[in-house]
Amino acid sequence: MPSPEQVYHLLRPRLHPIRLSLVIPMYNEEATIPFLRAAVTEFLRDLPAETEVIVVNDGSTDATLVKVADWAADEARVKVIHLSRNFGHQLAATAGLDYATGDAIVLIDADLQDPLSVIHEMVARYRQGYDVVYGQREARPGEGGFKRFSAWAFYRLMRTIVDRHLPVDTGDFRLLSRECLDGLQQMREQHRFLRGMVAWVGYPQCAVKYRRDPRVAGRTKYPLSKMLRFAWTAATSFSTLPLQISIVLGMLAGLLGIEEAVRAVVALLAGRTVPGWTSLMVVISILGSAVLIGIGIVGQYVGKIYEESKGRPLYLVARTFNVSSAEEPNRSGTAARTADCAGDSHRGRE
Ligand code: UDP
Ligand code: MG
Repeated sequence: MPSPEQVYHLLRPRLHPIRLSLVIPMYNEEATIPFLRAAVTEFLRDLPAETEVIVVNDGSTDATLVKVADWAADEARVKVIHLSRNFGHQLAATAGLDYATGDAIVLIDADLQDPLSVIHEMVARYRQGYDVVYGQREARPGEGGFKRFSAWAFYRLMRTIVDRHLPVDTGDFRLLSRECLDGLQQMREQHRFLRGMVAWVGYPQCAVKYRRDPRVAGRTKYPLSKMLRFAWTAATSFSTLPLQISIVLGMLAGLLGIEEAVRAVVALLAGRTVPGWTSLMVVISILGSAVLIGIGIVGQYVGKIYEESKGRPLYLVARTFNVSSAEEPNRSGTAARTADCAGDSHRGRE
């Protein structure tokens, strides 16, 4: 039963997906690949559906590519999309979603923090008729206090800024139906916050709760600095609230200026000569900083408009493994591919 705030949808029960796609973006994950490979192989064994595993190598600088290419050589269901450089998790995930051909698509991290067993539950919800089934974390045992706090603050802040319906404690671990993915793929913006975009797409959505395990190996690719940048991208690509905040800041600075002016006039009438320098400096610096903050925030938006106006592809694919030409995504603006050395299924420039 949807909550009173949710759009009421009538669920249409479905059959088990004929093909299930797992999309796994990877950046410097050489240490986790053996664990991932074992877990995915085990998972595929008892799945009653045709499956494909789409691994996106997001410009790793370690042996990730060699290891996933080995995996693809041993297992035809594993498809590798090797990007020309590091584009970041959100774009790598977008590339993987573009190549997915399944009726149901699950986006997971390479580090097995999101247990594969939860996918069975997601598929069960998909069969009930949900188009988006997101994993919601109940516990994060393997993460330090600070990471937990920053994640907690991040989700609450995003809810305030991006969309108040954005589910909290929910990462990118989710199942999407083909219909929902088709909608998502029409959104080709450069600055991407996939969770917000999925919330925007709509359709019946629900959560499955799970315990987020610690990383099996390697280190997080989302340190605090990247997390802050990600939060800023999410905030500015989804909302104009920062612009409104700058107006409020400007108004507060203006009030302070009025207060200082009144004080100066009162002092003048009372015949007290105000030395004035200090208060003047205070007002000037507060006004200056408010103006600069305002311009800076506007500048961020202008920068985003500039980048969108260039209309660049979101990512470039340098090479693929086990991808047939029929499975190439062919939407315009998806990816202008680079031509380089021969690959298993190498394509020329579009
Ligand atoms: N990742 C990526 N490109 C990047 C950074 C990360 O593809 O530039 C991948 C990474 O390999 C992992 C997933 O995104 O599969 C999530 O990253 P991570 O586990 O480091 O984030 P955390 O779980 O710590 O937030
Ligand atoms: Mg992780």
